[in-house]
Amino acid sequence: MEEHDCASYDEAIEELRRREYPMLQGTTYLDHAGTTLYAKSLIERFSKDMISNLYGNPHSASNSSQLTTRRVEDIRLRLLRLFNADPEEFDIIFVANATAGIKLVVEAFRDQENGFWYGYHRDAHTSLVGVRETAAQHRCFASDADVHQWIEESANEDELPGLFAYPAQSNMNGRRLPLDWSRRIRHTKQGAMYTLLDAAALVSTSPLDLGEWEHAPDFTVLSLYKMFGFPDLGALVVRKASTSIFDKRRYFGGGTVEMVVCLKEQWHAKKLDTLHERLEDGTLPIHSIIALDAAMSVHQELFGSLKRISKHTTTLAAKLYEGICSLRHRNGLGVCHVYKDPASTYGDSTNQGPIIAFNLRNHLGGWVSNAEVEKLAAVKNFQLRTGGLCNPGGVASSLGLAPWEMKENFSAGQRCGNDNDIFRAKPTGMIRVSLGAMSTLEDVTSFVDFLREFFVQESVPIESPPVMCPLDEPPTRSLLHVESLSIYPVKSCAAFSVPPGKAWEVRREGLAWDREWCLVHQGTGAALSQKRYPRMALIRPSIDLDEGVLRIQLVGSLRDTTSTHEIAVPLSADPRMFSTEDIYKEANAKVCGESIQAKTYRSTDISSFFTQALGVACHLARFPAVGSGTSSRASPRHSKAHLQKYQKAGSMHIPGAFPDACSLTPGAVISKPILLSNESPILTISRSSLNRLNELIKAEGGKAAQAEVFRANIVVAESLDYPPGAEQPYAEDHWRYLQIGQQYFEMLGACRRCQMVCVDQHTAERNQEPFVTLSKTRRFDGRVYFGEHTCHLPMDDTWSPLVQNPTITVGDPVRAFREEDAGQDMRLGALVS
Ligand SMILES: *Cc1c(COP(=O)(O)O)cnc(C)c1O
Repeated sequence: MEEHDCASYDEAIEELRRREYPMLQGTTYLDHAGTTLYAKSLIERFSKDMISNLYGNPHSASNSSQLTTRRVEDIRLRLLRLFNADPEEFDIIFVANATAGIKLVVEAFRDQENGFWYGYHRDAHTSLVGVRETAAQHRCFASDADVHQWIEESANEDELPGLFAYPAQSNMNGRRLPLDWSRRIRHTKQGAMYTLLDAAALVSTSPLDLGEWEHAPDFTVLSLYKMFGFPDLGALVVRKASTSIFDKRRYFGGGTVEMVVCLKEQWHAKKLDTLHERLEDGTLPIHSIIALDAAMSVHQELFGSLKRISKHTTTLAAKLYEGICSLRHRNGLGVCHVYKDPASTYGDSTNQGPIIAFNLRNHLGGWVSNAEVEKLAAVKNFQLRTGGLCNPGGVASSLGLAPWEMKENFSAGQRCGNDNDIFRAKPTGMIRVSLGAMSTLEDVTSFVDFLREFFVQESVPIESPPVMCPLDEPPTRSLLHVESLSIYPVKSCAAFSVPPGKAWEVRREGLAWDREWCLVHQGTGAALSQKRYPRMALIRPSIDLDEGVLRIQLVGSLRDTTSTHEIAVPLSADPRMFSTEDIYKEANAKVCGESIQAKTYRSTDISSFFTQALGVACHLARFPAVGSGTSSRASPRHSKAHLQKYQKAGSMHIPGAFPDACSLTPGAVISKPILLSNESPILTISRSSLNRLNELIKAEGGKAAQAEVFRANIVVAESLDYPPGAEQPYAEDHWRYLQIGQQYFEMLGACRRCQMVCVDQHTAERNQEPFVTLSKTRRFDGRVYFGEHTCHLPMDDTWSPLVQNPTITVGDPVRAFREEDAGQDMRLGALVS
C-alpha cells in the first residue's frame, strides 16, 4: 500500500460501513478498544459455511470429524502467518479470550517447584495484574526506566523461574510499549526469565510481526474478537523453544492425554506431539475456530492489511487529539485533560495507538463527572467507555491517586461505574475514546462537536457572580491571617501541625483527619481522654500522606515505657484491619457518654503499643464505621455548639458580670456532623486573646499557656504589620462568619472549658493555669469559655473546584464578619441568606 490518502480512504470506509455495519446506523462508535463489531459479510460467510458443511467433533475417524481437524489445523497455520510467525518456531493454542491465555501460562509457572517470580509493568491490564496473586514474589514496574534498569542488572535475583509481562499497547491510553524488551531480557538475563506480551489491545489496529523468532516474546496473548468482532475467541502464541515450562503443568483435561489410569493405580501419559494438543483441554470451540477463517478472509477483503488499518487509525487519532486539545472555555481554560504519556505522540504509530483517555474540566477548572458525560453521550448516541478501564496502575498513576486514597474511596462506596466519581477534587476514572478500522473522519468531528456543544463554556454565565472565578484573588488587605492549623488525629493525643504551604482539606466533619481515631478502654469501651490520662499528650500522631500512614510517636517520658517508640497505621480504612466483633454489634466506644460507631483495630501489636505506653488496657479505634459499602459516611454525632447568651448581638460582655437570669432566648442548637471532637467540627482561637490571657497569667507569676492546650484547629492572628498595641482580644466573641482564603466558615458559639486545659502538652504535667485565670476573666453564666466552635460553610456551586476540594493553608488571609456585616460580601451573603 502506497501513501495513505486519508480522504479517499475515508470515503471508501464510509461506503463500506453503510454496507457492512448496518448496526452502527445513528451511532458514533468510539469503543473499538473493546470492540465486538463484526461485518455483515462475515456472518453471512460463516453461516453459509455452517449450513453447507458437516463438522463433527474431532479425534474420530468419521469424515465429518476429519474435516473439522483439517480445517482447525489450517486455520491455526493461517493465524500464525497473520503474525508472520513461522510454524516451525511457534504454536498457537486456542483459548476463550486473552485472559484465558494468560491463565494458561500462569498455571504452568505456578506449578514450578518453588513457584515463580513475576514482574509486570504499571500499564498492565487487570488480567495481567491478577497474576501476582499466584506468584511467590512479584514486582510492579512503575516506569519504563525501572524496566530498563532491571534488564541491565543481568543477575536473576533468585533461583526462581521468572515471568515478565507487559502490554504491547495500553488499553487505557493506547500508548505502545517497546517491543524489544523480550529480546533484551533474553540477552541479558541469566537463568529462566520468560516474557509474556499482552497484544490484546495492539493487534486490533496494528500489525504484530513475530518474524524474528529469536527476539519474539515467549508467550503472546491475543483477543481475536477485538480484531474481527467475531468469533469470541482468544489465542496464546508460544515460542516452541520455551515450551518446557509447561512440562510441570499438573492439570490435564480431556483431549490432552494419551492414556489415564485411575482406580488402583494413578497414572497418565500426556500427549507429546504438539503443545496445543497438550494444552487445549476439552472440546475445542470448533465453530468459533471455523468462524475465524471467515473472519480473517472478510477482514482482509474489506480493509486490506493491518498495516493499512494502522495508518488510517493513526491519522484519525492525531486529528481527534488535536480537536480535543483545541477546545477551550471562553476564559481560556482548557476543556480536556488528556492522559497521554509524555514520550508518545499521536500520529506516530510506533509509540501511540488510536486511543485517547481524558477528563473534562468546567470553566472554573473543576472536574466534570464522568457519569454525567456518559449520560449525555448515551442520549446523543456516542458509544464510549468511562471509569477505571480495567487498568489499575495506569489509571492510578495518571490520576495521581495514592493507594490510601483509592482504598478510602473504596471504603466510602466508590466502585467502578458509580455515579459518584469525583472524590476530594480528583476524578476516580476517565473517559476513553478509541478508533478502529471502520472509524471515519466524521466520527472524529462529530465527537469534538459534541464536546464543544455540551462542555465548552462559550460565555461567562451571568448567574454566577464574578467573584466565583478561581482566578479571583482571596482578600489581600486583610488584617488577620491563619497563624497555624492543627489537627488531633487521635482524640486527646498530641496535635499534628499542618505544615506551612500545605493546602489542607476541610471536610463536613472538620479539618481532614482530625479526630478520626481514638483509644478505647478494653473493659468499658469508653474513649480515653487526657482528663483522666494526661500522658496521652505525649502520644504524637502525624499524618504522612505520601506514605499513606498515620505515624504515632511516643515522646518525652513515654519513651521509657516501651521498647517501640513508633508505629504506623495505614490511612486506608481497610475493613480487614478491624475487629469483626463489632461489625455487626452496635459499637461500644463512647465519647462524652454517647455511643459512637468506632471500629477497633484487631492488631495486637497496635493494642499493646498503646496499652504499654499509657499503662491502661486499650485498643486503637477508628471512626466512623467503615466498609459499610454506602457512599455516605454516616456520622451519628452532631454538634451541640450554640451561641452563648453573652455572644448575642446587643448583649454586654463584661466578664463575670453577666446576669445569670437572662431574658434573652438561648441560641438555637445547630446540628452539624462531627467526628470525635467534643462539640463541633472545628475550634478556632485568637492569638491576641491567648496573648491577653497569658499576660494576665504571667502578671500573677503563672506559666503561660500553649495554644495546644485549647485543642484549637485554627489559630487566627493579627498580621505583623498590625498597629502595635491595637490588638483586639476577644473580638471573636462577636464574629459570626470567617472567610479564610477562599472558604467561608460559620462561628457556632463559644467553647466551654474544663480543667483539661491545664495539662502541659509537652510534659503531661497538670498545672492550675490557665484555668484559674480563665475562670476569673472569662466566666459567663457561671461557665468558662475560650475559643469558638466553627464549621465550614460549603458553597452551593458544585461546579467550582473550591467546592469539590475546599482547602485552607497556614498563612491564608482571614476576614471576620459580624452578623450585620455578612451582607457586605456577595458570596457570603448568598450562602447565609
Ligand atoms: C481487552 C484486553 C485484555 C483482556 O482481554 P480478554 O479477551 O477480555 O480476556 C487484556 N489486555 C489488554 C491490553 C486488553 O486490551
